[in-house]
Amino acid sequence: MHTQDGPRLSVGPGLGRDLRRIVGAEHVMDPGFGGGRYCHDMTDRGGVTGRPDAIVMPGSADEVAALMRWAYAQDVPLIARGGGTGYAGGATPVGGGVIVSMERLDAIHQFDPLLWRIHVGAGVTTRTVQRLALENGLTFPVDPGAAEESQIGGNIATNVGGPHCFKYGTMRAWVTGVRAVLAPGEVASFGGAQRKDVAGYDILGLLVGSEGTLGLVTDAWLKLMPRPAYSAAVCAVFPDAASGGEAIESVLASGTVPAAIEYLDDIVTRTVRGTAPPGFPDADGFLVIVDVDSGEADRNAVVDALGPAAFAPDPRQLWRWRESVGHAMIALKGGKLSEDIAVPVDQLAEAVDETQAIGRRFGVLGCSWGHAGDGNLHSTFLFSAEDPDEAARAGLAAEAVLELAVRLGGTISGEHGVGVLKAGYLSKQWDTTAVLAHRTLKHAFDPKNLLNPGKKLA
Ligand SMILES: Cc1cc2nc3c(=O)[nH]c(=O)nc-3n(C[C@H](O)[C@H](O)[C@H](O)COP(=O)(O)OP(=O)(O)OC[C@H]3O[C@@H](n4cnc5c(N)ncnc54)[C@H](O)[C@@H]3O)c2cc1C
Repeated sequence: MHTQDGPRLSVGPGLGRDLRRIVGAEHVMDPGFGGGRYCHDMTDRGGVTGRPDAIVMPGSADEVAALMRWAYAQDVPLIARGGGTGYAGGATPVGGGVIVSMERLDAIHQFDPLLWRIHVGAGVTTRTVQRLALENGLTFPVDPGAAEESQIGGNIATNVGGPHCFKYGTMRAWVTGVRAVLAPGEVASFGGAQRKDVAGYDILGLLVGSEGTLGLVTDAWLKLMPRPAYSAAVCAVFPDAASGGEAIESVLASGTVPAAIEYLDDIVTRTVRGTAPPGFPDADGFLVIVDVDSGEADRNAVVDALGPAAFAPDPRQLWRWRESVGHAMIALKGGKLSEDIAVPVDQLAEAVDETQAIGRRFGVLGCSWGHAGDGNLHSTFLFSAEDPDEAARAGLAAEAVLELAVRLGGTISGEHGVGVLKAGYLSKQWDTTAVLAHRTLKHAFDPKNLLNPGKKLA
C-alpha cells in the first residue's frame, strides 16, 4: 500500500503566496478544501493515495514555466496531473509536493480537418479530440477506456494505448510535436505540425511515456486520419486459452490486418455474458473478439480463421459492452488490482492460464482480459475492500504477475506505465546498463529530481 509515508520535502511558509502570484489566487487550491480528488488517481481502490501541499491550475505554458522556475529555486516537487485516470499512481502525490493540474490548458489551438491534424492544449480530453475528428469524417484511433476524462497530456505522458492500437499504434504514432516545459523552467518545442522530422534526437519520443518525470507537456500537435468506411466484428468462444491462442495466431497468419484483437478469459466471459449483445452463444470459455475495418474480404478471412464457432454481433453494441468489462469485474468484490503486462503474442495463452494459477496460489480470484493482438493482458486480482488480508494477498499476486511477464520475455507494463506502483521494477526487466541509461537521462532532464520524484525509476 502506498501512502504519503515517505519523507516530505519541506515546503516553505510562503508557498501559497508564491503560487497565487504565479497563477492567480483563484487557481490555487488547498487539498483540504475541495482538492480531495487530486490525492489519488484510479489506483485508489488499491490503496494508493497521497496528500499534495497545494494544487495549482496554470493557464498557459508561460505560467507552467514560471512554476517550474519557482519549484527549482525552492526545491519543491511538481507532480503533473491530467484527468487522473491513470492506473499506476503516476499522478498521485505520495510524497507531497505541488500538483500541476493541466485542466485549464484546454484550448483547441488549431484544427485543420482537410490536412488531418489538430493542435491542442494538454488539458483537452481524449474524447474531445475523438469527437471533433468524428464530426469531420476523421478518426483519432487512440482509444483508451477512460477517454471521457483522460487528457491529451496524460495520454502523451503514458504513451496510451487501447484496443485499436493493434493496427494503428499507441499515442506515439499520433503525436508529431509537443511543447513542454523543461527544468529549470524553459518552454521548448519538439516537432510540430510537420509529419516527419529527423533533424534532432528523438526527444519527442522520449517525452512520450515519460510519466511527468522529464518535463511538463503543455500542448501537442496530433495526426488524424479519414474514418474507415467499413466496420464489422467477428467473435468466437473457445474451450480454453490454448485453443483461443491458436485461433488468434490463425487470424494473424491469414494475412488480414484486423483493427483490434481482444480477449476475455473464461472467468470474465462467464461474469459478463448476461449483458452481452444479442446473438452471443450460450457457451463458457475463452472469448476472442476481432474488429475489422478494411472490408468484406478481410472479414470473411477472419471468419475462416476463427472456424465454425465464429459469430458476428453488432459492432457498436459489442464495443459498448466490451468497455463495461472492467467495471463489471470490480463489482464482484469492490476492489481489484489490475496489471497491464504484455508478452509475445505466442505466450498469451500461458500468461492467461498462469494469471489464474497465481490467483489460486495466493487465495484470491485471478482473471484477465485485454488486447490479445498485442499480447497485452489486464491480469486482475479481486479483493474485498473490507478485508485487508485479502487485499495484501492480491498485492502479492500482482507482484508475481510482473515476474511472470519478465519470465515470458515480456514487459511489466504494456499500457499504464510504471508510476509508483511498479517503481523499482525496471531492474527486473532490463540489465544494469539499460537501467543506468534511464537514470542518466532522468538526471540530464531533471538534475534536482523534482519532477514527479519516486515514480518510474525509483
Ligand atoms: C476505465 C479505464 C480504462 C482505461 N483504459 C486504458 C486503455 O485502454 N489503455 C491505456 O493505455 N490506458 C487505459 N487507462 C489508463 C489511463 O486512462 C491512461 O493512462 C491515460 O493516458 C491517463 O491520462 P490522464 O490524463 O488521466 O493522466 P493522469 O492519470 O492524470 O496522469 C498519468 C501520468 O501522466 C503524467 N501527466 C499527466 N499530464 C501530464 C502533462 N501534461 N505533462 C507531463 N506529464 C503529465 C502524470 O504525472 C502521471 O504520471 C484506463 C483507465 C481507466 C480508469
